[in-house]
Amino acid sequence: MHVPNSTALSAKANCAARPVLVRCSRPTSARRGFFVIRAAVAQRAEYIWADGLEGDQSKGVVFNEMRSKTKVIQEPITSMDPKEFPDWSFDGSSTGQAEGNNSDCILNPVAVYPDPIRGGDNVLVMCDVRNPDSTPHATNTRAKLVDLLTPDVVAEKPMYGFEQEYTMLSKSGQVYGWPHGGYPAPQGPFYCGVGSESVYGRPLAEAHMDACMKAGLLISGINAEVMPGQWEFQIGPVGAPDVGDEVMIARWLLHRLGEQFGIVCTFAAKPVKGDWNGTGAHTNFSTESMRNPGGMKHIMDAIDKLSKTHPEHISQYGTGNEERLTGKHETCDMNTFRSGVADRGASIRIPLPVQLKNYGYLEDRRPAANVDPYTVARLLIKTTFSK
Ligand code: ADP
Ligand code: MN
Ligand code: MN
Ligand code: MN
Ligand code: MN
Repeated sequence: MHVPNSTALSAKANCAARPVLVRCSRPTSARRGFFVIRAAVAQRAEYIWADGLEGDQSKGVVFNEMRSKTKVIQEPITSMDPKEFPDWSFDGSSTGQAEGNNSDCILNPVAVYPDPIRGGDNVLVMCDVRNPDSTPHATNTRAKLVDLLTPDVVAEKPMYGFEQEYTMLSKSGQVYGWPHGGYPAPQGPFYCGVGSESVYGRPLAEAHMDACMKAGLLISGINAEVMPGQWEFQIGPVGAPDVGDEVMIARWLLHRLGEQFGIVCTFAAKPVKGDWNGTGAHTNFSTESMRNPGGMKHIMDAIDKLSKTHPEHISQYGTGNEERLTGKHETCDMNTFRSGVADRGASIRIPLPVQLKNYGYLEDRRPAANVDPYTVARLLIKTTFSK
């Protein structure tokens, strides 16, 4: 049975909070046998998880779904193996994950990264949420992904490149850098732009990229997006379930650094109504067969299967996605499935270099920015590995 060991740890933690006096076993000072001061540098572990609520813009405030709390660990754990870190618990009734009369949910460490903000021995601990009997909580989409990672799937080494778009807002809720109560020039000069007239919020985007690199995430780039104040970072190529863990940590870092910059980052699918691009999370996907010479055959086979499960994917590809997938901006409308080479109006795009080489990967352009990365990863495996 899985026994949460946080109780044992907190009992231990209570006894040694400060620099302590210890008897020196091999005294070197003139006052032999006396005590010396050892600086007991405790470690801060930020336990991070996703809550059970949908992002909600309806009350004029944007909430994200990341939660975290800090555990001070007196004897630093230097291993990066998540199993070395104790389970912890939290009040699920405050996160949409439990009723008040039976509120404890368990945080189960699944991945550990150096903390790029606190530095030193401090770490970020990505957790999945468990019931007290250690079974996966209903909101635990990671466990559902892991369940699909059977030996035949693992042998094909599925890889993902996740293009996480987001929009920066000022604390008053307006897009960051937009004129007060008004609009900037129409879309056109902003995508991959440079210059104060077209790019808003670069210091945060840069600080975020830097933090992701220091945390050891496989961030592969950033760019300013089509709507001014909108940005993208990419995670990958990376396997499963790591893609989900890394995207969640990268999202948490973005919100956390946003606190320092006074900028709110939202993953809302359509933060500004009207003739402005929505915010997506294109997911690039490949298997070993697709990546090998001649792999195009396997890419086409996967696209054929994806064409048959379009509604199932769309229903789990993020909230508010119907406002983004109208067919007026990026990708075709929600009820149409289309694929094409270099076609950014398609549901699934085959990048031009992939067509030229005849192997590589496909890009699923349908997920909204607020999609659950574990869920996209799972659905892509579920559909493309189906017989
Ligand atoms: P776009 O041209 O659509 O903006 P990006 O350059 O933003 O594309 O993102 C492409 C993503 O695809 C990157 O994260 C990259 O790491 C990822 N990628 C590259 N090759 C593969 C592959 N074989 N399988 C999965 N993802 C890949
Ligand atoms: Mn959620
Ligand atoms: Mn991109
Ligand atoms: Mn983009
Ligand atoms: Mn893309």
